[in-house]
This record gives sequence, C-alpha cells and structure tokens, in this order.
Amino acid sequence: MTDRETHHRELAEKYLPAEVLERFRERAAIYDRENRFFDEDLEELKALGYLTLFVPDAYGGPGLSLHEVTRLQQRLAGAAPATALAINMHLMCTGVVKAMADRGDSTLNWVFDEVMAGEIFAFGISEPSNDWVLQGSNTEAVPTADGGYLLSGVKIFTSLSPVWTRLIVHGAVTPEDEGIAGPDAEEPAEGQLVYGFIERSEPGITISDHWDVLGMRASQSRATILDEVLLRPDRVSRVIPAGKHPDLLTFAITSNFQLLIAAVYAGVAARALELGAAGLKKRTSAKAGTTLAEVPETRARLAGAHLDYLSVPAMIDSYARDFDGLVDHGAGWPLRLVGARIKAAEAARRTAETALMCAGGSGFDNGHELSRLLRDASAGLFHPPSADAARPMYAAALLDD
Ligand SMILES: Cc1cc2nc3c(=O)[nH]c(=O)nc-3n(C[C@H](O)[C@H](O)[C@H](O)COP(=O)(O)OP(=O)(O)OC[C@H]3O[C@@H](n4cnc5c(N)ncnc54)[C@H](O)[C@@H]3O)c2cc1C
Repeated sequence: MTDRETHHRELAEKYLPAEVLERFRERAAIYDRENRFFDEDLEELKALGYLTLFVPDAYGGPGLSLHEVTRLQQRLAGAAPATALAINMHLMCTGVVKAMADRGDSTLNWVFDEVMAGEIFAFGISEPSNDWVLQGSNTEAVPTADGGYLLSGVKIFTSLSPVWTRLIVHGAVTPEDEGIAGPDAEEPAEGQLVYGFIERSEPGITISDHWDVLGMRASQSRATILDEVLLRPDRVSRVIPAGKHPDLLTFAITSNFQLLIAAVYAGVAARALELGAAGLKKRTSAKAGTTLAEVPETRARLAGAHLDYLSVPAMIDSYARDFDGLVDHGAGWPLRLVGARIKAAEAARRTAETALMCAGGSGFDNGHELSRLLRDASAGLFHPPSADAARPMYAAALLDD
C-alpha cells in the first residue's frame, strides 16, 4: 500500500469508522421504508466533524482536499447512499468556498465560520424546466434599494430540506414590474444572474410537503418555494451575466458538484459489486454442483461490471487531484467533470442490475439491500447535465472550430 493510500485509510477510520458505517447501513433500510430524513446519521456525522471537512485549519477545520473528500463520500455512499447524496450538498457549498480561497478569492470565507458554528448549507439551484441550470434562472431577483434582492421562484429537489439553514440560490435580476420570461432553450440566456445565500429564517420560504420518490428517499429533497425572500446585501456572492461566461464561482460549483456526485454513485457501484460477489458465493447450482461463484458464465457477468466500474474511481481520483493542484484544463474541464459523473451514475445502475442478477430472486425482495441500491442508483439519471444534454458538448469539442 502506498503512503497516499495509508493516508486515505486513516481519514476513513477517523471520519467514517466501520462500526458507524454499519449503523448507517442498517438505518438506510429504515429511512427508505419509512420515507424519512436521516436525523440519526446526521447527528453522528456532526459529532465526527464530517460537516467541517473542507473548512481550512485557520478556521478550525481539517481543510481536506476535494480528492480526500471524494474518497470519504464513496465510502459513505457504500453504506447509506441517500445520506451521502444529501450531505454532499452541504459539503459542496463548503468545497466551493475552499476552492475559491485556494484560487485567491476569499470573499465567501464567512461560510467557514458559519459551518463551524453549526449552520447547514444546501444547494437550491435546480428549477423546473431550467436546462440552463447555472447559466440561467426562472427565479425572479428584484433588487432592493440597499443592494439586496427579493427572490421569487421554485427550486426543485432541495436535498436536506428538513434541516438546512443556509441555501445557495441564483435568480435572474429583474427590475421591479418587469417580470422575466424564463430561459428559453432556443435563445441564449440573457441579462444578469445573482448568486447568494438565503437564510432559512427569512419570511417567504415554503417547503413542499410532497416527497415520495423511487430512490434516495432519505435525502428528503423537497421543492422549495420562494416568495419575495430576502437575499441580504452581505449575502450576495456574485452578479454575473447569464449564459456561457467563465466565472470562478460557477466553475467551483461545477467542479465540486460533478465530482462529489460522481463519488456518491461510485460508492453505490462499489457496494453493488460486493453484494454481487456475495450473491454468487451464496447461491448454488444443482447442475454444476457448485456455488455460482465457480460457474464461468456468472463469473463473467460480474467480471464485466467490475471492469466497467474501475475506470470511474480512477477518473474521480485523477480529476480531483488536478483540481486540488490548480491544473488548468481550460475548456477540457467540463468534459472531464461531467464525464466522471455520467460514467459513475452509469456504473452504479449497471453494477446494481448485475449484482441483482447475481443475488437472484432474493435480491428482488424489498427488504434486500440490492433492491434499494438499484432504486437509489436510478436517481443518477437526473443530475444535470443529463447525458442527452451533455452529448452536444462532447461532439462540439471534436467537430466544431
Ligand atoms: C435525489 C436527488 C437529489 C437532488 N438534490 C438536489 C439539490 O440538493 N439541489 C439541486 O439544486 N438539485 C438537486 N437535484 C436535482 C437534479 O439535479 C435535477 O436538476 C432535477 O432532477 C431535474 O429535474 P427535471 O428538470 O427533470 O424536473 P421536472 O420534471 O421539471 O420536475 C421534477 C419535480 O420537481 C417538482 N416540481 C416541478 N415543478 C414544480 C413546481 N412548480 N412547484 C413545486 N414542485 C415542482 C415536482 O415534484 C417534479 O416531479 C436532485 C435530484 C435528485 C434525483
């Protein structure tokens, strides 16, 4: 084992000890069945200092790198995918601030103090029918006289909805009485976007009471409805042009988001492979007179999934290390980041399905971990950009001048 691997192992034992993970795994089944938030996991994660992972030493945290956190998130997701996906949103917000500070922009460093004080950050970017995602918004942001904004709109899939206290949001800057038409896929997004953090205590925030989904149920990613919610002037992070304009904040969001989400699905895939192997060892073949672990066809099935999986942690390791090392891939960054996340989500679905076939009919039982993993893995179809939305970018990188 290399020194680097020993280091990752020490971090794993410190922040996610094996006995804690076992408790998370047991509770994951209960949260899923009861469709409830992971309150007990969250308390344990807080006690372990997990919510402060990215906070630099100078602010009282361990200042872990994106690479270190993606490794931890893979481990957490192997036990409790929905817990990992939801806590990802808090980690991502703090990772963004660390990435900006590492690149010389310390304007958001107040976030570190708030994280150390126990605030929980979440990610309120997704909106219905907004496939511009970070480059446009259907949320109206009406400027106030003192430099703040009043935000009105709907943010969908806000993970951590029962507990977040700070929410990073964006909105289209809209002079009073004008109203925005909303982004149109045919036209470039226009005007200006404001990014900032709203506080849960502000009037005008409603959390949807509807949440009954196929997988990742414990994330409780309910819709958040904003009705003239105040974004205070001191919480405005950026005002940038809508559309494709390079900006450090949106680059830091994309990088942390894509690689941390990739880590979650890589963790799901790794766990599915373990369960697939266990299934083959357990099941016997009357015809072969052995366990299925010795039958060439079933071995080959699992081997194929293993082969597909291995490129995923390699991509995450490599890209996260480059990101931490401030490597400039320029226009090659989105191709790498989005590619890692899409391939991780594909691997999670493929390995979960393969593992289910290895486990046989028992894995189909709702009480079996694999049936939940397959449902959790299917959430990977919905993180932006989808494979369909991303393909033009891969084509353009090769075909357009
Ligand atoms: C498990 C999970 C967790 C996620 N966590 C986050 C997160 O923390 N932050 C984030 O920004 N994105 C998050 N995403 C969102 C995701 O990344 C995509 O942006 C989203 O799935 C895109 O959905 P769509 O455009 O296909 O949605 P649509 O099909 O347009 O809508 C999806 C759902 O949003 C709700 N919805 C739609 N319109 C309204 C409305 N007007 N009022 C109220 N509710 C409405 C409905 O429940 C609908 O089923 C998460 C996704 C998943 C699957």
